[in-house]
Amino acid sequence: MLIRPLVRRLAAYVPGEQPRVKGLIKLNTNENPYPPAPRVLQAVRAAVDGRLRLYPSPTAGRLRERLARFHGCRAENIIIGNGSDELLALAVRALVEPAAGDPDGARDGRSVVQLFHPSYSLYPVLAAIHGARVNRVPLAADYSLPGVAALRRGGQWQFDAALTLVTTPNAPTGRGYATADLRTLCRAQKGVMLLDEAYADFAEENALRLALTLPRVLVARTFSKAYSLCFQRVGYLVGHRALIAALDKIRDSYNVNGLGQIAAEASLAHAAYYRANFRRIITTRRWLAAALGRLGFEALPSQTNFILARPPGPPARDWLEALRARKILVRWFDAEPVRDYLRITVGTPAEALALVQAVRAILAEPRRRG
Ligand SMILES: *Cc1c(COP(=O)(O)O)cnc(C)c1O
Repeated sequence: MLIRPLVRRLAAYVPGEQPRVKGLIKLNTNENPYPPAPRVLQAVRAAVDGRLRLYPSPTAGRLRERLARFHGCRAENIIIGNGSDELLALAVRALVEPAAGDPDGARDGRSVVQLFHPSYSLYPVLAAIHGARVNRVPLAADYSLPGVAALRRGGQWQFDAALTLVTTPNAPTGRGYATADLRTLCRAQKGVMLLDEAYADFAEENALRLALTLPRVLVARTFSKAYSLCFQRVGYLVGHRALIAALDKIRDSYNVNGLGQIAAEASLAHAAYYRANFRRIITTRRWLAAALGRLGFEALPSQTNFILARPPGPPARDWLEALRARKILVRWFDAEPVRDYLRITVGTPAEALALVQAVRAILAEPRRRG
């Protein structure tokens, strides 16, 4: 066999569909419904010429300086990645011992990637690729963050796990976690805590200051969702310079493409444009949650740009197909405990209205009654 057993056995991550269907309303991968700021598009266009033959900055130096100013820290507290997904993988590789060849692994947390369930479904895949162990601990029944005392009582949580990955606000539930609660958990943890804040800009609070005050905490951010730059693949981590330096050692030399660096830098210069978009999305989110509620959906409270909602009547999977037939694409996860739910990205007001009208039409179909 040419392929390593670990790779042969591996169940790869399944990203959301990216169909190119005309007129499709795409509410399945939490993309921002608004385009990047006009000046950001200009900056990218202005950079597309003969200079594409040159390598970009290997350290993304200017972008790191600007982010440092934005967050009130130093460039050495920041590492940029090809999307935050790359940085999650780097964190696993730099901080977690593969389980093979680690005979004490069963007794301590050196080879453990710890995560709450449900959370971002990429995490266990990254652990599996690395040959690390996964400790998957259920969230509380209402998907809130279990407290330290409850985790101790439960007996499953490992306070010595090498790396704990927490999506906050959480995906796919949309729930926000209080920074005070996260701080308590971070302080109780002996290994590294990585707080994945992909949706923080749509939330009431964020935990970035924990990465600047606690030496074992990393915060991940991305330009994908809030800054409408999924296509460009730029994310970053903030944290203690010793942790950042460790990840920096093992990354590819030119991991962040040049146009992505330019787009991200320009985005930071137009914060007001993006803040207005965050407010619009939050307003649409409230409207959509209320409208779905009136139609019999049970919508979980969301601090993100999506809503996890349990549809009435037929199984969620049938709703996925019924909406797809009406050219509206949402996300359904074939996994407990979210199998009964749809994850719906908050689009523009017009897209949200189209979704609500499609739901009404589906509910009115005779075969779906009762
Ligand atoms: C979208 C998402 C990411 C990945 O972001 P990229 O920067 O596009 O790689 C990471 N974490 C969570 C929870 C996400 O939803």
